[in-house]
Amino acid sequence: MSPSIEDALEALRVLYLDGGALVLLLDYDGTLTPIVARPELALLAPDTRRLLAQLAALPRVHVGVVSGRKLEEVRALVDLPGIYYAGAAGMELDLKGKRVVHPHAEEAEATTVELISRLTEAVSGYSGAWVEDKRFVCTVHYRDVAAEQIDQLRGRVEEVARREGDGMRIVEGPMALEISPDMGWNKGTAVRMILDHIDAPQAMVVYAGDGGNDADAFDAVAAVAGITLGVGPDAPSIARFRLPDPAALYEFLSRLAAALI
Ligand SMILES: [Mg+2]
Repeated sequence: MSPSIEDALEALRVLYLDGGALVLLLDYDGTLTPIVARPELALLAPDTRRLLAQLAALPRVHVGVVSGRKLEEVRALVDLPGIYYAGAAGMELDLKGKRVVHPHAEEAEATTVELISRLTEAVSGYSGAWVEDKRFVCTVHYRDVAAEQIDQLRGRVEEVARREGDGMRIVEGPMALEISPDMGWNKGTAVRMILDHIDAPQAMVVYAGDGGNDADAFDAVAAVAGITLGVGPDAPSIARFRLPDPAALYEFLSRLAAALI
């Protein structure tokens, strides 16, 4: 661990032992779990689940998982009560049992269904490419596409998205492009909604994420002078601290837990 990460850990420890509150917000794929060939293989390690439960059980520590996956899916994968969840990159949230969904979710869902069928057709000629339905977001995965075809495939995907009009957002994922109708709710608004619900303005917020769709969350956390942890090589450069992989984040969180107890 670099000294700067040590400083972050120490700042959190001192603040907490002084009576302050901590908010730990974590992306799922590539952050809590390593990136794997298929999203359904990204299961949370039992040790990580135990660690998150241990942190969430501490007084004045709030834990949340902020994912691009559908809300039910991320909730089922993490499977912990008493924490915050944001799914579909912030379009739907579970604020400790209070369900919040974007008011125009149905419209966004219909647009996404349409987009999925166009994208599925557009990538059908590329062996290894497939489209994932995340309800308000669709992800075109190209990990298994021949290297020399990737640029062309990305071009096709961008073309389809552009044809849908200006309201489409394209974000870089791990060997993937995520396309969604821009409804104004993203991981950044999810962070703000969770913080509003916690209602502890002096809390120190930590956000860890690995990909392009975490950029809004990093911005939101930077705006409240929080700690931004970029995990892995593709994390947005606005993250102040870097961790090489999910294992390093696990180590960071276990050291934090040990320092707070
Ligand atoms: Mg991720």
